[in-house]
Amino acid sequence: MTHRRIVTIDGPAGAGKTTVSKALARELGCVYVDTGALYRAVAYEIQCREIDWQNSALLEPFLDGLDLDFVMEDKEPVLTSSGRDISAYIRTHEISMLASATSAVSQVRKALLGIQKSIAKDRDAVFEGRDMGTAVFPNAPYKFFLTADVNVRARRRFEESSASGISFEKILEDMVKRDADDTQRTVSPLKQAPDAILIDATKLDVSQVVEKMKSIIKVL
Ligand code: C5P
Repeated sequence: MTHRRIVTIDGPAGAGKTTVSKALARELGCVYVDTGALYRAVAYEIQCREIDWQNSALLEPFLDGLDLDFVMEDKEPVLTSSGRDISAYIRTHEISMLASATSAVSQVRKALLGIQKSIAKDRDAVFEGRDMGTAVFPNAPYKFFLTADVNVRARRRFEESSASGISFEKILEDMVKRDADDTQRTVSPLKQAPDAILIDATKLDVSQVVEKMKSIIKVL
């Protein structure tokens, strides 16, 4: 199976995937897709509707009834749930933790596979996530695994969310937990695809990472 020009960027939370992916997509003139937003949307709907997600008999009909979609706005995909733009509600600390827990459930991952593939069908895109290069687009021509030291990642998150009042220690503790949950789950764990190029951004800024990716894409 061949893919269009698909770039996958996987890696742990706080490595700079979002900023890098957006900048790279802009440079390449293609769309940017944040697949973490899908997992956050599921968590958000679970929270709103108070779904007992650990009960698979209740989870199944909930997932069947979900209506998540990416709607193109100004050439950028915006995530909607039942037609409503929910982007403003899915970035809280609570949703981050719930998304990490619920994304380990195979029914959740299965439910989100179709929408991720469908967006790649007729357009070039940079996909950011945890399992883009391993499970969703194993044949993508350009794959990156972006990581950084956990203390550096937690510091970045702390600086981004200074208004939330959450301490650096709490952010670091939860990041270590999220890393463990994401890498140790049985279904589609966070790991570098064998053919993905590893970039350690501990000592690199966004533009240096983007330049590195662009030069690699050029020669591949
Ligand atoms: O990338 P972001 O931090 O927004 O993702 C939220 C959570 O969704 C992650 O902690 C991870 O557990 C899950 N996720 C995933 N697979 C993806 C993208 C995100 O399991 N492709």
